[in-house]
Amino acid sequence: MTADSTLAPWLHAAHATLVALRARGAHAALLHGPAGIGKWELAMAFARDVLCETPDAHGRACGACPSCRLEAAGNHPDLRVVVPDALAFRRPAPAEPQDEEATTRERGDGGDGSGAEVERGATAKASREIKIEAVRNLAAFTGVSTHRGGLRVVVLGPAEALNAAAANALLKGLEEPPPQSLFLLVSDHFDWCLPTIVSRCALVRVAVPPRQAALNWLLAQGIPDAGQRLTEAGGAPLAAARDGDGLDADAAETLRGLLRLGPALRAAQIAAQIPRTIPVAASIALFQRWTWDFLSVRLGGHLRYHPEEAASFAALAQAWRPDAAVSWLDRLRDARATADHPLNARAVVEGLLLAYRNSMAEGRADA
Ligand SMILES: [Zn+2]
Repeated sequence: MTADSTLAPWLHAAHATLVALRARGAHAALLHGPAGIGKWELAMAFARDVLCETPDAHGRACGACPSCRLEAAGNHPDLRVVVPDALAFRRPAPAEPQDEEATTRERGDGGDGSGAEVERGATAKASREIKIEAVRNLAAFTGVSTHRGGLRVVVLGPAEALNAAAANALLKGLEEPPPQSLFLLVSDHFDWCLPTIVSRCALVRVAVPPRQAALNWLLAQGIPDAGQRLTEAGGAPLAAARDGDGLDADAAETLRGLLRLGPALRAAQIAAQIPRTIPVAASIALFQRWTWDFLSVRLGGHLRYHPEEAASFAALAQAWRPDAAVSWLDRLRDARATADHPLNARAVVEGLLLAYRNSMAEGRADA
């Protein structure tokens, strides 16, 4: 695995910014921008780069040194990844080590190796908050000398998921940074982050890539329907790439049946009918197509996806104002960009359907 294969082209500018910040001695950076464009992947790539013992001429990780091999094995003692339990899949997890000798020989991490725990068996109630325990553990991590003589790197996100106690605990580390430590924070919702956290980080904005660059990347990944998916994901290529399983015909018809009810939709119906393992991204894509067709017909256009639903949309038009429909589309786009794990799939889809119903209640009241 070469380092460049893990960094999409539109991330290179932000990567260069990180390199420059590091050269100036910055100890904390906050990568922010819309969800699903690769900020997390960039933070992890930069962590690999600065931990690498023999980086290339561009400062990129070599992929072959002991440090790179430890990272690839999910076992680097000088790297901590802090995420909510709901995003536990982002934590490094020792899989099948390619180099058993290296990983067993160098695993000694002073007994505080919680960063390498495997927690894939998370339950449907997995927390979406970063809790204080996770941040307190960092003090033990940054308080000891580094295992391999280089930096200690903490990658933490989403920064807006820090609850108040955890944020306060993190502040201490950011105010008096331990020597040889680097904090890389990632946020999809910069404006939700505590100002005290933000003010102690160098800010690195990552923008949505130009559409053609995103399309080229998706095609290179072999993603089918790249253009359609990219549109549905609001231009966020990583969100477009992770579509997961499609909806089967029964589930799709269930969702359309609920959508047809419009303002008559009841929470109990939603709860009773949504399957427990509904694919989130595919459900959101169905909701988006439904809304696009609704707006299209309201604006005098044709029904692109639901030619047989003209009567349904005419009925909905009594209750659903176009601006309310556009607001729901915004919400769908945000949800799509963050629909990257199946742990609470049903709750996500239920919440979106309730928002759909509520957007109609408002529209009717204001009409
Ligand atoms: Zn290396």
